[in-house]
Amino acid sequence: MAKKSPSRNTCSFCGRVDNDVNLLIAGVTGHICDLCVEQAHGIVNDSLKKDSKLAPGFTLSKLPKPKEIKSFVDEYVIGQEDAKRYLSVAVYNHYKRLLQKDSKDDVEIEKSNIIMVGSTGTGKTLLARTIAKMLKVPLTIVDATVLTEAGYVGEDIESILTRLLQVADYDVAAAERGIVFIDEIDKIARKSDNPSITRDVSGEGVQQGLLKLLEGSIINVPPQGGRKHPDQKMIPVDTKNILFICGGAFDGIEKRIAQRLNTRVVGYSASRDTSHIDRKNMMQYITPLDLKSFGLIPEIIGRLPILTYLNPLDKDALLRILTEPKNSITKQYIKLFEMDKITLTFDEDVYEYIVDKALEFKLGARGLRSIVEAIMMDSMFSMPSENTKQLHITRSFAIEKLQKSNIESLRVA
Ligand code: ADP
Repeated sequence: MAKKSPSRNTCSFCGRVDNDVNLLIAGVTGHICDLCVEQAHGIVNDSLKKDSKLAPGFTLSKLPKPKEIKSFVDEYVIGQEDAKRYLSVAVYNHYKRLLQKDSKDDVEIEKSNIIMVGSTGTGKTLLARTIAKMLKVPLTIVDATVLTEAGYVGEDIESILTRLLQVADYDVAAAERGIVFIDEIDKIARKSDNPSITRDVSGEGVQQGLLKLLEGSIINVPPQGGRKHPDQKMIPVDTKNILFICGGAFDGIEKRIAQRLNTRVVGYSASRDTSHIDRKNMMQYITPLDLKSFGLIPEIIGRLPILTYLNPLDKDALLRILTEPKNSITKQYIKLFEMDKITLTFDEDVYEYIVDKALEFKLGARGLRSIVEAIMMDSMFSMPSENTKQLHITRSFAIEKLQKSNIESLRVA
């Protein structure tokens, strides 16, 4: 073994000499070796992670107020004013509730899970995602259609919590303060008004299972998901403080709302004037009663006390979605090209053309991206190997590229 000479450099943290390490970095008054750098990096990461998950030291003054939550969401989500207000308040109250744990009086703020009703592609998931981004809490998005009663093919209800644990890096305390977004909740509505004739694997049984989560109970969660088996170690997760946001399109619910509004005013005692009803957007009149007549069980509805709706996206909203949000589709493509030092610009009427096509193909906001992708494809393929540094998209260019693509196959019948 080489004799340690006093003049050799050593790591100021662990004391290893330069021969024993791969790299020794010199500082102003000392040195650090590669091993200590790695270790310090891990420590920094861990502590940042802990800080960002509404750690116990979190105070009300640090919590963004509903107006701040909404203006943050405004940067990403266009329109949907009512849903944004409801969500901002609900999320704010939810976290206030988490902070009231050590209150001395008997007033206990109850949890307010949320249900958002609106056609597909109107921004329900985007809203939930954006809010989670702001609050830096674990969020998982699950699709209710894959859930089945325990014992049937499909995923058990507990799988929802497995996913939440996974996004929280198995930090149970963080997961227990997280947000679960359950999409397509309407798909587990009871199919008929007579639930007892046959087993309803994806209907009422799943709703009952879900109820357990929404109510707040301690659930044993298989850490890796999958089916439970006796020797698998379970992680108990308390769902009391998890905020559940449900979303669904509830296709056809407008008819039920209209029926309810009309039948109410028929008859001798009718005094309500229905002329003010905005028949183009019936969703705004939705009440828990309509959810019940759609097939959600009353217990579930009772556990989702905040009911809000999303408006269908009209041409104006789609135009704004294309260009305005902080990470709007056009901004994303401009950035992509910028990385190849290419300046990408669009004529104003190109936006209108893209939106018209999305409406014609009944693709909604989701279709905007596919259409822009189809228009840009050729240029994205060839320009990085060329010397041209400008790309200006005109309407005729867009028409030509779109006709060339197989975009027609996306058309919704
Ligand atoms: P939903 O959950 O209602 O089916 P999403 O939130 O997944 O719909 O929306 C799909 C995509 O459409 C989003 O990722 C986003 O790009 C775009 N989008 C939909 N609605 C909006 C909106 N109101 N503002 C901005 N973008 C939107």
